[in-house]
Amino acid sequence: MKSLQLGDARRDDLRVLSAAMSKNNEVLNRAATIANRFLGDLGERSLKPSASIETLRQSFDVPLTDGGEGALDVLDSLAASAEGGLTGSAGPRYFGFVIGGSLPIAVAADWLVSAWDQNGGIYVTSPASSVVEEVAARWLLDLLGLPPRASVGFVTGCQMADFTALAAARHAVLRRAGWNVEELGLAGAPRVNIIVGSEAHITVHSSLRMLGFGTKTFVATPTDDQGRMISAELARTLRSLDGPAIICCQVGNVNTGAFDPVGELAEIAHERGAWLHVDGAFGLWAAASPRRRSLLKGVELADSWATDAHKWLNVPYDSGIAIVADSAAHRAAMTLSAAYLEQTAGAERDAIDWVPEFSRRARGFPIYAAIRFLGRRGVADLIDRCCSHAERFARLLEPDGRVRILSYVVLNQVLVRFEATGRDADELTRSVIRRVQQEGTCWLGGTTWHGMAAMRISVSNWSTTEADVERSAAAILRCLDAEVG
Ligand SMILES: *Cc1c(COP(=O)(O)O)cnc(C)c1O
Repeated sequence: MKSLQLGDARRDDLRVLSAAMSKNNEVLNRAATIANRFLGDLGERSLKPSASIETLRQSFDVPLTDGGEGALDVLDSLAASAEGGLTGSAGPRYFGFVIGGSLPIAVAADWLVSAWDQNGGIYVTSPASSVVEEVAARWLLDLLGLPPRASVGFVTGCQMADFTALAAARHAVLRRAGWNVEELGLAGAPRVNIIVGSEAHITVHSSLRMLGFGTKTFVATPTDDQGRMISAELARTLRSLDGPAIICCQVGNVNTGAFDPVGELAEIAHERGAWLHVDGAFGLWAAASPRRRSLLKGVELADSWATDAHKWLNVPYDSGIAIVADSAAHRAAMTLSAAYLEQTAGAERDAIDWVPEFSRRARGFPIYAAIRFLGRRGVADLIDRCCSHAERFARLLEPDGRVRILSYVVLNQVLVRFEATGRDADELTRSVIRRVQQEGTCWLGGTTWHGMAAMRISVSNWSTTEADVERSAAAILRCLDAEVG
């Protein structure tokens, strides 16, 4: 803002404000243009960043001015500087990690969330956000086949969903042991046994760590060749332990996509009064597909679930979902109150009762919009389509004698290893991955599975087509030829 004459301060204030308002339109329209151009090119733009870290630093690190800069100038320069440092992770041939990619309707709703700038913390600061979360929560429980009375918190990602659900678990198992952990803390509390599958995602470990459970105190239970927890092993583990217990299982292994036998685990846990938590960052969405629902038999019997919307529901970051069957435990672990807050008496939803954040983004809107756009069948189709693409990848690659698919494709993940005479398979696999990343038709990453290097293909984007899969598989085989030949 320019400096104002003191005498006319008020009038000048208004003048500056109205000038800023018309600039607002301009700057928002420009942002829409830039975004549309980016999204329009997404299918063909380079998947890997083109700029080096030095270039990015030089480009972003302009002198900080005293007087500020014009909004359009800032926006244009920001976009130009970012260009070379953006990955094509939202595009149709990005198969690294488990990334997703946003549906246009979800991006649009997310734009509105920013424009509305609502604080979604309590009902009073945004009734619309509160009610949209209420409705989205009901739809999610319906789609995922979870208990209709479970409580739902909209958090930043699955790590925070794990954290939130496990805080509820900690509350409940300690309450049953006569200990109020919110009031008394963990020092002097009955010891809580934490049982995790040996294939648990690292964020389950970090969530537990943030809740005061040290990683060295975890009891790991063995998994089978697909990375699934073994029911009999869990039963044996539980028999050897006394006191409160929380068990963390998963649906959707990040390498194989495999599902723990969650229904069986729930029965074993409950016989013993233990809490069963399910990490289902992407795999829980298989429950929304009638064709795949049986992979999660008994999932509704668990006590809590964590999942992402920014992965397989294809809404923008940040969007995770914490779900807890015992809503009283969920609320007890999260709620807070203050004299000034004007929390509602209970009939309306205050998000602060269900999430670790206080002030927060109204992140229910994009989820609501995505589900409404897709409908029940659209969600199922999205899941099924990605799974068929994963199977197609395996079918296209496997006939090559140098390709080994390391695990049965059960969901959207494919593990590929390359073997050729005279070459160390680990080294060859890593070299092919690097070459594919350089070649640029598609992008995917590596992992280690049972001590073996592997290429990991994850399909989780609505816009990926069969042609994308065929083009990508051909590129992978071309890179293999170049590497071996
Ligand atoms: C991605 C992932 C997480 C972590 O989710 P964020 O949304 O990245 O916090 C946890 N568990 C599994 C199985 C995942 O794939």
